[in-house]
Amino acid sequence: MQNLKELQENIKNANNIIIFSHVNPDGDTLGSMIGLSKLIELNFNKKTTNVIIGRKPDTYAFLNSIDECRSNNDIDKETIYDLAIAVDVAAKDRMVDMQEVYFKAKKSINIDHHITNNGYGNINIIDANASSCAEVIYGLAKALNWEINQETAELLYIGILTDTGGFRFENTSPKVFNYAAELSEQGANPTKLYRLCYESKPKAMALLNAYAIQNAVFKENDKIAYTIITKEDMKNFNAKGDYTEGISESLRQINTTEVSMLLKESENQTTKVSLRSKNIDVAKIAETFGGGGHHFAAGCTIQKPPKIALEKLMEEIKKSLYE
Ligand code: 5GP
Ligand code: MN
Repeated sequence: MQNLKELQENIKNANNIIIFSHVNPDGDTLGSMIGLSKLIELNFNKKTTNVIIGRKPDTYAFLNSIDECRSNNDIDKETIYDLAIAVDVAAKDRMVDMQEVYFKAKKSINIDHHITNNGYGNINIIDANASSCAEVIYGLAKALNWEINQETAELLYIGILTDTGGFRFENTSPKVFNYAAELSEQGANPTKLYRLCYESKPKAMALLNAYAIQNAVFKENDKIAYTIITKEDMKNFNAKGDYTEGISESLRQINTTEVSMLLKESENQTTKVSLRSKNIDVAKIAETFGGGGHHFAAGCTIQKPPKIALEKLMEEIKKSLYE
């Protein structure tokens, strides 16, 4: 509670506040960032600067206020903010070139739910048992008696909905259902938000997903399922960066799968890896490559092309499978 009070005081006293998403933003970091921003506006009558790091994802273009968010490329790095808040940012390097601005701020706040978060802020509000960062933010809003309206309820609901994979992943606790019920009472409509998050995919995204599954490779008695997407594949499908979301989860849906992964060829001979599992701790595996995340959903970037990254990953996964 002490750090919540400190957060409240810092928001009250700040003249300028900046909030950061993580790179390659998802529904939780966006719902959390814009949700917190709207809560601050509603309760403290203050506007914040919201920064999307990396591309603005097409799949969340439906968020009304996404256009008000700035890109990391148009933030002046010299400005010193009174308060900088990172939401859903597991590690400081997930803020990429915004770390400088974050750490230069008079006070830095770190609100998150990743078990691998090391508490890099001056004030850390981290709950590794929470399904999502949006759940942490709703919890603190309740504890601090903040007013919530339909818009903020919808944004936080989107964070919870997407990080629980539609209330299906292991992080779907009784508290998640209680919070979702309260948020829907405050105006978040489950069907409307489900359709926006899950039934509004661009055609190219659905086709890329099908292609990736079709090309999947199965190893170790089908316990490991992986697929590789190259830059050329992305071009062929006319796919935006966020169109690969959900592919690793699709591979986990197979009954034999213990660990699934997507290896995505990225710039400069690097590979972005998305790991999912049913039992083994993939956050631990991701951490050995400098990444992180959650027990059953984690990621990392390996400074090698996909084929070489794959060999290294397979070694670590096999160790975890048979230890
Ligand atoms: P995704 O596979 O969807 O990109 O990420 C799965 C989970 O792992 C998310 O919670 C995400 O925040 C985390 N994650 C993904 N990539 C990285 C990374 O490079 N570093 C860290 N620390 N976490 C990551
Ligand atoms: Mn999250």
